[in-house]
Amino acid sequence: MANIQAIRGMHDILPDQTPLWQYAEKIIREVLSNYGYSEIRLPAVEKTELFKRSIGEVTDIVEKEMYTFDDRNGDSLTLRPEGTAGCLRACLEHGLLHNQVHRLWYYGAMYRHERPQKGRYRQFFQFGVETYGMASADIDAELLLLTDRLWKRLGIREKVRLQLNSLGTIAERLVYREALVAYFEQHLEALDEDSLRRLKSNPLRILDTKNPAMKDVVANAPELMDYLGDDSRQHFQTILDTLTDLGVSYEINTRLVRGLDYYSKTVFEWVTDELGSQGTICAGGRYDGLIEQLGGKENSAIGFAMGMERLVLLLETLDDIQVENAVDVYLIRVGEQAEKVGLRLAEQLRTELPTLKCQVDCAGGSMKSQFKKADKSGATVALILGENEVARGEIGVKLLRDEKSEQQNLAMSEVIEFLRQSR
Ligand code: ATP
Ligand code: MG
Repeated sequence: MANIQAIRGMHDILPDQTPLWQYAEKIIREVLSNYGYSEIRLPAVEKTELFKRSIGEVTDIVEKEMYTFDDRNGDSLTLRPEGTAGCLRACLEHGLLHNQVHRLWYYGAMYRHERPQKGRYRQFFQFGVETYGMASADIDAELLLLTDRLWKRLGIREKVRLQLNSLGTIAERLVYREALVAYFEQHLEALDEDSLRRLKSNPLRILDTKNPAMKDVVANAPELMDYLGDDSRQHFQTILDTLTDLGVSYEINTRLVRGLDYYSKTVFEWVTDELGSQGTICAGGRYDGLIEQLGGKENSAIGFAMGMERLVLLLETLDDIQVENAVDVYLIRVGEQAEKVGLRLAEQLRTELPTLKCQVDCAGGSMKSQFKKADKSGATVALILGENEVARGEIGVKLLRDEKSEQQNLAMSEVIEFLRQSR
């Protein structure tokens, strides 16, 4: 019988890859806490209706990417394709949005039925940030400063560019929408099938097309920026001024509309040229209208989501990144007595030195073969318990990364001190 394999587009992250993931996750959490953000943990499954109502019916996600199924009682449920809707649902449900300000983050797997390729999977991980209750441009700028700081901490700032746009208010977009439809109606022959359909339902999405054949018709379309009112313009300008003030470089991309319907005013993406067409590693924007759309009171909201797989792929392009998961100490035991004494010794070391990474050889074998495994483990120190050491009540110590070092024998209390000093 053939072995069962994983589902297409849903990947295992193997032990040799997890150190890099953990390294990135740790730095992301640190930077989020630098800005005073709190974690929220959310279900991976929500009612289908939530995504339809928030993301919008005429979007790639709702039209063709959701994993939707009937629960045993007939309710239609969906594996979350993104985190914004669920986060807002939770905050509304628990009354967190009444006259309050929140800065939240979440981390977890998202699910979209897309065509799997490098940087695009059916299960992927996102760090998401959502903030509520802040209308001022300072919070928009804060999210950009936070991400800028994150790329610097991760050593990839040179590899990413910030693209920004403003989508204005819903009213401003409506006027623009008419102008856009009028323009596209004069160029129907240049539109593909998807775009013809969107012309009626969601013409702005045509600007977001990935079809290279439509590059020209999109490039010559009217610009939303020309339709913004004073307030939207001022909001956008304040963000740009703050970025300039604090030395964060950016590009204005007037074609950036983002895939989702709920954005207003600020939208942004951090993009890289090093991952082919899956170049967006972080994307977000302001979605002031969404809270009302989901039944809450009018409120401000802005957030972003960052794709971990793409981030990790980008980290892998760095030459000088060194993330290891090696243990500090590898304990070799040969003989029945040594096995017993060794287990107790390892426990004592972990008690005395709580951050020590100590691995005990539990597979056995000759002294020579255990030394080989010690070397492979990446440990800097091998502790050796053979029959002689046990008989003398001592422990052999050998530095594995120092060719000239000879094994020396120490008493228990000396080993603890030795390890404490050598760290
Ligand atoms: P794309 O245009 O690449 O399809 P998107 O606009 O659908 O992206 P968002 O919904 O904004 O993406 O999600 C935010 C981030 O999550 C993306 O910028 C990307 O880094 C990551 N992401 C989205 N979809 C996938 C996927 N299928 N596989 C891996 N990462 C993804
Ligand atoms: Mg997509």
